[in-house]
Amino acid sequence: MRLFRVSRDLTSADRLIANEIIAAHTWALPGIQNCPRCYETWASCVAYPDVDLSALQGQERYRIRRPQSLYVVHRMREAVRPFVAPGTALPPGAEFGPLVGHGKGTFGDFGWPAWPGVMLVRPDVALRLEAAGITGLRAVPTRITYWGSEDPLYREVVFGYEGRVFDESLPPGGAPACAACGHRDLPSGRRAAIDPHTVSGTLDVFRSIDVPSCIYATSAFVEAAQALRLTDISFAEVPTTRSRTTRRVTYRL
Ligand SMILES: [Zn+2]
Repeated sequence: MRLFRVSRDLTSADRLIANEIIAAHTWALPGIQNCPRCYETWASCVAYPDVDLSALQGQERYRIRRPQSLYVVHRMREAVRPFVAPGTALPPGAEFGPLVGHGKGTFGDFGWPAWPGVMLVRPDVALRLEAAGITGLRAVPTRITYWGSEDPLYREVVFGYEGRVFDESLPPGGAPACAACGHRDLPSGRRAAIDPHTVSGTLDVFRSIDVPSCIYATSAFVEAAQALRLTDISFAEVPTTRSRTTRRVTYRL
C-alpha cells in the first residue's frame, strides 16, 4: 500500500489562498506535568471533535489548558470515558468537541488551523470525494468566526487513528510506554515511517495512532483529489519499506 503525508499546500504560487485560522477544541484532558515515573511533561494532540462533553459534570474544568498531576489527569479521564466509545484512546491532552476560534483571508477547498493534525474541508468537497468512493471523511461543524472575509463553511474531519511506526524507527530497545502515564519516546512525524501492514485500508485518510500530528492518505485519496483539482492540500509519499527508514540513536544520561 502506498501512503502519503497530507499537509497544507505551502507551495501554491498564485497566493490566491492566504488565510489564518486560530482555533482550539472546546474541551481537553490536561497534559501530564512531571510524571512521577518517567519525569515527562507532555500532552498528545489526539482529537475527537464529535464527542460532546456539555453534559459532563464539571465540564468547565476541561476548558482550562494547564498540565496537571498524574492523579488529576487519571480522574478526569475516567469521568470522560462514558462519553466515548469503548476502547477509545484517551491520552493526556486529548481534545473533544467542536473547534472554536476565528479565521480570516481567502480559503481553498481544505482549511488548516494552527493546530497539529486538524484538517477542515468544505462540505461540497467532502461530498464530491465521497462520491468518488473516498472513505474516512466524516466531518462535523465548527464554531469558527470569519472576520471580514468569506465563510468557507468548513467542517472538521473526524479522523480515525491507525498506523504504527516501524519498529526500526524506534530508539534502541523500542519505545515502551511509561507504566504510569503512557508516554512513549517516539520519533517525530518527519523521522517516523508508518508500517503499511498496520493500516487497515478501510480509511482513505486517517491520522497515525503513534504520531497523531500526522495525517496520511492512500493513493486513492490522492488520485481523487488531483482529478477534482482540489486546492490547498499537498501530498508527499512516505517510504513504506523498512530499509529506507533511518534508525534514530539517542543517548540519555
Ligand atoms: Zn510517565
